[in-house]
Amino acid sequence: MHIPSHPHSSPPSSSQDMAISWWLILLTVMLLLPDSCPATEPPPESPLVLPRLTPQGEAQKLCHRIGNKLASVNVQECLDRNLAPSGGQSVEGAPILIREYPPAEGRTPQARVLLLGGIHGDEYSSVSIVFDWLQKLDRFHTGLFHWRIAPLVNPDGLLRSESQRTNARGVDLNRNFPTQDWDRDSEQYWVVRTDRDPRRYPGPSPLSEPESSWIHNEIMAFNPHVIIAVHAPFGLLDFDGPRAAPPQRLGHLYLDPMGTYPGSLGRFAGVEKGIPIVTIELTHAGIMPTETEIRNIWMDLVRWLSANIRDEGPRVMADSVPTPPAIPDANSKALSLAESASRDTAARPTPPPVRLQ
Ligand SMILES: [Zn+2]
Repeated sequence: MHIPSHPHSSPPSSSQDMAISWWLILLTVMLLLPDSCPATEPPPESPLVLPRLTPQGEAQKLCHRIGNKLASVNVQECLDRNLAPSGGQSVEGAPILIREYPPAEGRTPQARVLLLGGIHGDEYSSVSIVFDWLQKLDRFHTGLFHWRIAPLVNPDGLLRSESQRTNARGVDLNRNFPTQDWDRDSEQYWVVRTDRDPRRYPGPSPLSEPESSWIHNEIMAFNPHVIIAVHAPFGLLDFDGPRAAPPQRLGHLYLDPMGTYPGSLGRFAGVEKGIPIVTIELTHAGIMPTETEIRNIWMDLVRWLSANIRDEGPRVMADSVPTPPAIPDANSKALSLAESASRDTAARPTPPPVRLQ
């Protein structure tokens, strides 16, 4: 008997079986999907969240900006110094980077030294020379002193397209410290003596700026026995503070006290807090001293620190002290540090040419 073929009544082929099976699987999977996440619903809107930089990432980012700004410090040289964010920030949110060289393990340092560069953003050499000295300490730090070093306190001033002395809000950080005469004298000094020079604006109130507040907090927390502040371009040394004999000469720079100002770091730290403060005024803001001069200033500074600054309260180092005493044991390491730096530099075949900044 012939059974007529009929498409609708014919038994399913094996390929039809497979198609139905796939549809059943797909249907099952769709039914099992949670209601809250239908396949057609767009993903929920989320705000754009930039990844937060790690402290190391923040330091690296700033090193790139510094290296691209200064001719005398390249990015890798900055990265190699292993600077870390101090926790302090500029007005525009740049980290104030520091490097710490602690005393030798288990040893009380001869003194704590706070070294600051770049308080004024257009004094390029004051930043570059501190980077050079960091490199020397990386090689020769013996642990005699406890160093805390910020090569660039005013990053906003330096790192804008046209560098400026003041911070991002136009405040001269070196007039913004809480000296006793600030309320009475700082504005009048600015108006009368500087004729409202915008480069020397002391700010609306003492410590109104995050950068000066950071220095102030560092002084309070670190409690340095001496502060070294690097500036330019007066080509001299300044000194404030009662507890040490000032250095008469560092390299080619000679002591020539300039006095202090309402709100200046010298008046605040040196005169009022009694912390010796050496202000190194390099000769040019935009031209680095020669390699030899950079080394000589550093060696003389370390020698002066070794002979004059120690954690034992006030010392009397009057002019009556005729010559430096024989090198005591505690000082020998610092001197060997300076002398090692000297030997190292002297061994270099030719100093690199002075680079303009
Ligand atoms: Zn300055």
